[in-house]
Amino acid sequence: NADLALYQAKERGRDCYYFFTEELNTKALKLLHIEQELRHALQMDEFSLVYQPQVCLKTGSISSIEALIRWNHPERGLVAPDEFISIAEETGLIVQIGEWVLKNACMQTQMLQQLTGQSIKVAVNLSSRQFSDPNLEQVIADVIEETDLNPKYLEIEVTESMLMNNIDKVIEQLNRIKSTGSTITIDDFGSGYSSLSYLKRLPVDILKVDREFVRDIPEDLNDMEITSAIIAIAHKLNLKVIAEGVENIDQRDFLVINKCDYAQGYYFSKPLTFEDLYRFFTAEQLKSA
Ligand code: C2E
Ligand code: MG
Ligand code: MG
Ligand code: MG
Repeated sequence: NADLALYQAKERGRDCYYFFTEELNTKALKLLHIEQELRHALQMDEFSLVYQPQVCLKTGSISSIEALIRWNHPERGLVAPDEFISIAEETGLIVQIGEWVLKNACMQTQMLQQLTGQSIKVAVNLSSRQFSDPNLEQVIADVIEETDLNPKYLEIEVTESMLMNNIDKVIEQLNRIKSTGSTITIDDFGSGYSSLSYLKRLPVDILKVDREFVRDIPEDLNDMEITSAIIAIAHKLNLKVIAEGVENIDQRDFLVINKCDYAQGYYFSKPLTFEDLYRFFTAEQLKSA
């Protein structure tokens, strides 16, 4: 609350007042600057996507890839999404950036399917602003039409926290997304506080166990209990489950034993450029040939 901060600062005296206004100005200016940079980035094509394989634990094959955005900043180099997505969200630019991501992810996946002859799915992250956009269904439908990707290969990832609003509205929006033919994954599952009765009502397809619970397996007994419980709940609700942040073989083995369906993490592969992904797929094909 900026006004309140200013008021309190004024009460405390002149120096404080200057201190606070300057800080607020600096923050506003910085935001404005990054906003201009992001706008510029869209025009200049500075964004790119990397893709992280998601592996089916039953067969060991890649079932899906998650599209993750990168910003190739002319001076700062490769910028990670954690550094700019929230600003894009605050300024509203996320809507345009999100559309760019959706379109390019679908286009490249369609291309990868053509090149490899394999039915690979693609997972695309939505921000909360995109999720509350009444036009979202149309945006997705247009991209599907334009890129010619069969929508059954498109997985929309929403985080658990985005769903903890008016449940009827949330269900409505999820159904609109699903009406395009795509499926829905709840990302970072377990990091929010949705109740089981709430979860039961949501028209979703996959739960993605938050990295937080996977990280300390097999040292942390609680995390192992939580992870195996989430897997069991998902299956009881007829959902598939994927674990993210799998970094070592112990974690993979634990997930296999507990019947987790899919896994994603550095143990299998880091996010790859489209080029490297293509090479990865052709190498796999050669190995299994
Ligand atoms: P997320 O959707 O949960 O994506 C997983 C993140 O974990 C990615 O970070 C990925 O590189 C990282 N990761 C994968 N495997 C491992 C592992 O084994 N260990 C560890 N420590 N980390 C691993 P990234 O690419 O930096 O993305 C961070 C977040 O930014 C994403 O979290 C997602 O919430 C957001 N994001 C990324 N791309 C987009 C996008 O196109 N649109 C929106 N709205 N958000 C995006
Ligand atoms: Mg994700
Ligand atoms: Mg995640
Ligand atoms: Mg996460």
